[in-house]
Amino acid sequence: MDLLEHHQAGSRITLIGMGANMGMTVAKGVAGVYFHSSALLADAAHSLSDILGDVVTLYTFRKSRKPADLTHPYGYGRYEALGTLFVSAFLVAAGVGIGTHALEHVVRFMPDLFTATVSSGAVESAREMLGSAVTSSGGDAASSSSGASSLLSSYLGHDHSHAAAHKVVDGSVVVDPRAIWFAIGSIVINEALFQATMKVGRRTNSDVLVANAWHHRSDALTSLVSVGAIAGAIVGFPILDAIGGLVVSTMLAKSGLSMAADAVREITDTPPSPQLTHSVADALKDVCDDVEEVRGFDNVQCRKSGPFVHVRVTLIFAPDETAACVEKAIETIQAELRKRLDFVQTVDVNVATK
Ligand SMILES: [Zn+2]
Repeated sequence: MDLLEHHQAGSRITLIGMGANMGMTVAKGVAGVYFHSSALLADAAHSLSDILGDVVTLYTFRKSRKPADLTHPYGYGRYEALGTLFVSAFLVAAGVGIGTHALEHVVRFMPDLFTATVSSGAVESAREMLGSAVTSSGGDAASSSSGASSLLSSYLGHDHSHAAAHKVVDGSVVVDPRAIWFAIGSIVINEALFQATMKVGRRTNSDVLVANAWHHRSDALTSLVSVGAIAGAIVGFPILDAIGGLVVSTMLAKSGLSMAADAVREITDTPPSPQLTHSVADALKDVCDDVEEVRGFDNVQCRKSGPFVHVRVTLIFAPDETAACVEKAIETIQAELRKRLDFVQTVDVNVATK
């Protein structure tokens, strides 16, 4: 696969993701209004913000693959690290958001649980209330996690902001059960986007595509937690919802932070993994074996630049070698190494004699 094909594959999958997010924004937005679910509306707003992440991914993916020129003699690869930093920050923000939300539930739910244990009558009525609410809502898709536990806590006398997610008529909750299909659809679409984007990201050696892929999966998990929360409420453990939310948010924040750390390491010129340097050294050994003027090499250094790597190496020549021969040998080695490892963008050579 050459650079042009990489370019097209990466742009295509990002545009598909962007189109899907636009579709989900409209679908959830319309459904939110139609089914009276403010939670679905909030989810629509999230999909709208995801489009921004897709725009950044597309821009930095394309920019980083521009050939080197006078203003950027080492190419534009680092634009990808900037894009990764941005997309990772979104992922961490999503994790913190879901985590705070889930923690609020845990904190509010604990005293309720205690109160409920003391007065068993309240538990019974709460169960009844919860049971009928779940049946009637069938599970408000996006309100997901919040729905069930908020119902219980609001019934037990704790006012809850999530009550707004449900239309309350004559004291009973009315959420159109069809709303759940939007959460399920969101899981399917986002997981498919994760798989497809991850595949292209690995093939094109693109960190920003990998980061955006993880974002698609985070969206799928968010919707999954929503659906799982409703199931938890049905079996009588509404707190499962909050616990699920905490698990997911920790995962999101962790993967976002580790990708952001990788991007920062790249931007600050921290050497990449030793495996990468080893694979470059292995290829250099093969290449040097074929050029008889070169007696060996030393000091292999790699610098990552988005999908590319810049290599610096010291080549060792005999003291009596002519400048013309040295020049020709260096050119051969540079060309051969770049042919062998397509991610090598430049090869800077120092000369030593021995
Ligand atoms: Zn998202």
